[in-house]
Amino acid sequence: MPSLDVTSTAISRTHSPDLIPGYRLESLVGAGGMGEVHKATQLSLGRTVAVKLLSQQLAQEESFVARFQKEAAALATLRHPNIVSIVDKGSTVSTYYLVMEFVDGPSLRERMRVPQEDSQDTLRVMLQICRAIEYAHGRGVIHRDLKPENILFDEQAGDIPKVTDFGLASFLEDTSTRFALTGTHMAMGTLSYMAPEQRVDAKNADGRADIFALGLILYEMLVGELPAGSFEPPSRRKPKLDPRLDGIIANCLKQQPADRYATVSDLIRDLEPLAPHYYTTMRPAKLSRMQRVGRAVRKGVRVFMQGVAALLVLSAMGMWGIRYWHITHKRVPMTPGDAITGDLGLPDALESAGRLTIVENEPRKVTLGEGNDKPSLLVSGRPLKIEDKKFIFPAVGGQSRVGLVRVDVPGMRGDTARLSARVNAQSNEPTFPETLAHVVLDAPPPDAQVALMLMTTDPSQKRYVALVYSGAGFPIRLEWSLGEKQGTMLGPDSPNGPVELELSVDEEGALIASLGTKGDKRPILEPLQLGTNWQERRFGGAPISAIGCIEGTCQAESFSYQVKPAPPKPPGAVQASAPARVETPRPVAPTPAKRPPPKPAPAPKGKRSK
Ligand code: ADP
Ligand code: MG
Repeated sequence: MPSLDVTSTAISRTHSPDLIPGYRLESLVGAGGMGEVHKATQLSLGRTVAVKLLSQQLAQEESFVARFQKEAAALATLRHPNIVSIVDKGSTVSTYYLVMEFVDGPSLRERMRVPQEDSQDTLRVMLQICRAIEYAHGRGVIHRDLKPENILFDEQAGDIPKVTDFGLASFLEDTSTRFALTGTHMAMGTLSYMAPEQRVDAKNADGRADIFALGLILYEMLVGELPAGSFEPPSRRKPKLDPRLDGIIANCLKQQPADRYATVSDLIRDLEPLAPHYYTTMRPAKLSRMQRVGRAVRKGVRVFMQGVAALLVLSAMGMWGIRYWHITHKRVPMTPGDAITGDLGLPDALESAGRLTIVENEPRKVTLGEGNDKPSLLVSGRPLKIEDKKFIFPAVGGQSRVGLVRVDVPGMRGDTARLSARVNAQSNEPTFPETLAHVVLDAPPPDAQVALMLMTTDPSQKRYVALVYSGAGFPIRLEWSLGEKQGTMLGPDSPNGPVELELSVDEEGALIASLGTKGDKRPILEPLQLGTNWQERRFGGAPISAIGCIEGTCQAESFSYQVKPAPPKPPGAVQASAPARVETPRPVAPTPAKRPPPKPAPAPKGKRSK
């Protein structure tokens, strides 16, 4: 009987991995059923990546090469903060490779070696894994090899789990090739995490097999071992656990797929109320020792100052002084929803330099700062300064500390959209009374916030999505209020400004928030599903782009907004009637009927590749 333990599968090592053009292999970080994973440097960008090499021996076998290609295709279909992202793929003289982002942290397996006492943290991790799988299923990808070894923690990004190893993934679409592997190769899955139906007939296992594995992982994380046979409910094993977990896990682990949760979304719906503290997708990054010491010192100083200042103020000014400060500095509410979409008075119309492209059935684009067209802007709340292609809301005192500039270009209708700008925000230097009030009342001075926004043209509706930057060290946040759909997601802490933010919506209406530089933008939050026909459905028509500013000085430059209509449907095209969640993944191999003959395995030596 073949060994079922992937990690112990005897596979000859890729002893001298060929040189991979553009990459320098640094060290071996993992070896599994398919080959080796190396930490490597991508020479063009000087960044660390992970290179997965198919073992030379398996590169001789067509089915393994096909599977390796499929892993790359699955990864290329998926763009999610809790899924390892692919960078590149290719082949060398003797084998194939794929390049992924490098995840620095341990695997969930390694984490589980230390018993976890904090079940809230376990649920936080589980919810993120579930959201990754919910997203993958939504894109038509089933993982089929979920297990703690295949979940890695990105400690740099704030300790977020990332699902990796889509080596057994299948696409819902091409059922005929689903698990098109021989019997021996089936041993590549890890039996203990396999759903019963996957063990018997892997070909027909669907997303519910992943739900089974998710249930096993959750049980193991909570209890410390895998459930066996008619297992004991987790709360009986660990009396501190919420008994509602018993039912949730039982629903994942039903023998018959039809008795399990039908979708990962259903599982998430039940899990979420048990982890109310984790609305965010990411936990703030771990503080370094220096930062922790700094915090402690600052806290000590603050407590001391509070005492001194309280005495000072009470004796010198009396409580009325503070009260007076409070009254004169009453602020508008500080969330974009209430502030930026609130009543900011009549707007001033302004023309700015920029470029406009509005052509029927072509991508439509407006950029600000440079160009001979004169896109019109509507500025409200605070005066806007345009300086050297930069749009600046300078700091002002007084009551209205909110500014909004809307780009008043009609006809920006399309099926996809991309809005980006480089932004910066700086808080005002606090005045003496503010500092005093800060110390006495422990009310931190307000933070400057700048938001990249899509909003409805009808101001009474207050529908918007805002990607908000609040200065270095504060989390970037996505806020939305779209009728019945409202919420906030916290992203990673902002780096030192300025930062380049991007909001993009694809044809299926998945809104993705990204952060980075022009050439290297990365999604920072899980996609917000707006659904198809998102412009009408969520904004009641083509939204307009805007930049909002709360407090302090806000700057934006390189502003660009583009929408693209989908290509017209060919005449006679049938309306897809598949369930909404099952979308055709883009880079899927052609359907078997039209499938080209499989690519022959590469010659072991002699053939050069690029
Ligand atoms: P296999 O199909 O051989 O199991 P995996 O994709 O699971 O391959 O990779 C094997 C091991 O390599 C993982 O368990 C992990 O330790 C390491 N690894 C995989 N991908 C990455 C990555 N992107 N960053 C860092 N380490 C990785
Ligand atoms: Mg693996």
